Amino acid sequence: MEKTLEERDLAFIWHPCSQMKDYETLPPIVVDHAKGAWLYDIHGKKYLDIVSSWWANLLGHCNPKINERIKAQLDSLEHVIFANFSHRPAIELAERLAAITPERIEKFHFNDNGSSAVEAALKMCFQYYHQTGKPEKTRFMCLSEGYHGETIGALSVGSMDLFAKMYQPMMMDNIHIEAPDCYRCPYGKNREACDCECFEHAEKAFAVHAKETAAMIVEPVLQGSAGMRIYPPKYLKKLRSLCDAYDVLLIFDEIATGFGRTGRMFAADLAGVSPDVMTLSKGLTGGYLPMSVTCVSQKIYDAFYADYGEGRAFLHSHTFAGNPLGCVAALAVQDILAEGHILERSAETAKWLTRALQEAVGSHPNVGEIRHIGLIHAIELVEDRAAKKPLEAKKRTGYAIYKRALSHGLLLRPLGDVLYFNPPLNITREELSEAIELTRLSMDEVL
Ligand SMILES: *Cc1c(COP(=O)(O)O)cnc(C)c1O
Repeated sequence: MEKTLEERDLAFIWHPCSQMKDYETLPPIVVDHAKGAWLYDIHGKKYLDIVSSWWANLLGHCNPKINERIKAQLDSLEHVIFANFSHRPAIELAERLAAITPERIEKFHFNDNGSSAVEAALKMCFQYYHQTGKPEKTRFMCLSEGYHGETIGALSVGSMDLFAKMYQPMMMDNIHIEAPDCYRCPYGKNREACDCECFEHAEKAFAVHAKETAAMIVEPVLQGSAGMRIYPPKYLKKLRSLCDAYDVLLIFDEIATGFGRTGRMFAADLAGVSPDVMTLSKGLTGGYLPMSVTCVSQKIYDAFYADYGEGRAFLHSHTFAGNPLGCVAALAVQDILAEGHILERSAETAKWLTRALQEAVGSHPNVGEIRHIGLIHAIELVEDRAAKKPLEAKKRTGYAIYKRALSHGLLLRPLGDVLYFNPPLNITREELSEAIELTRLSMDEVL
């Protein structure tokens, strides 16, 4: 008998972030085509993609305007070496980014995925101090629950969780500062009204380690992979001052938060703070093509600018850096955001969603907290609401709900036991209503 597509997939493909044995009971869903927030599989079943296909799909699948730009570009230039060569789409994109990024940001280094943008950022900061008379600054600071990608450098400024621990012997020895934990605040405060008492951990770490530290990297306001943990913008204001006082560079990893995900163009804008370095990817191309940008201040750029013989250049490259197809996708995204007033409209949708979700599951005995920023809404499931006691991880409750939701046609991929929506910014209220209903149904079936 002829093999199914699912069988052919499993015969050769090793899927990302998966225990492949799980596929024995939940085979891969083979997607045939997609439109807006919907995926359609080869059997004609449809799925509402409420997680924007790993947070990248910013304006819906097969968005006609993005498709059109890519198709037009394809017939004139698909790719070109980016050292010494350039092209209109990259030049225009850099100009557009310069206009919308925070004030310190002046120069744009193109890479081809989020992790590679983070690696470039770390190397730049390290080299910056080497070339400005402080070669002792070789280490990095980061927040304990952070996520910055999967390559070794990026992993070593991330959370030392189950998945990273394995690789510890391969990693840099960085300084991990206890992250804000607003849901279970150790100071008994709440994120709307606190003074970031937890910032004392950063102050202590800087007092001891700033001398040997090149940069501090954070996901501003939203620690995505940690379970959509949200902390006050005020923390970033304090961090900016601390970095300035101790001469430590500040990196904002806006790979997940950039391009309207938090309600503003960048999370940095929420805090009114400008980092020295910013990393962008995911929504940059509307989730179409792998591309990232490491954005830096003029001060950093200038530290590398010298006669070749001085050996100060940043000799870092990725083959597909600055790919023209990715650049035109990103330009189309910028046009759509501006012309369609997408941020303003998604802010209205977000307000509605907060209320609707609260009504639907807010009083559920296993819902510890519903937290939100922009259109991102997360439901933290707990064993005991009053005690905020987590569910037993071994039970894989989130995964069980994920499977139920899939059977109902909802792609709701939890982070542990945190269910979340991070949909395209132009999703409709009708679609969100459906997502809420199916989430509630899947929760009831499992809990
Ligand atoms: C996804 C993500 C990355 C890694 O990007 P990849 O393209 O998956 O390598 C880094 N930082 C943050 C905050 C992310 O959300």
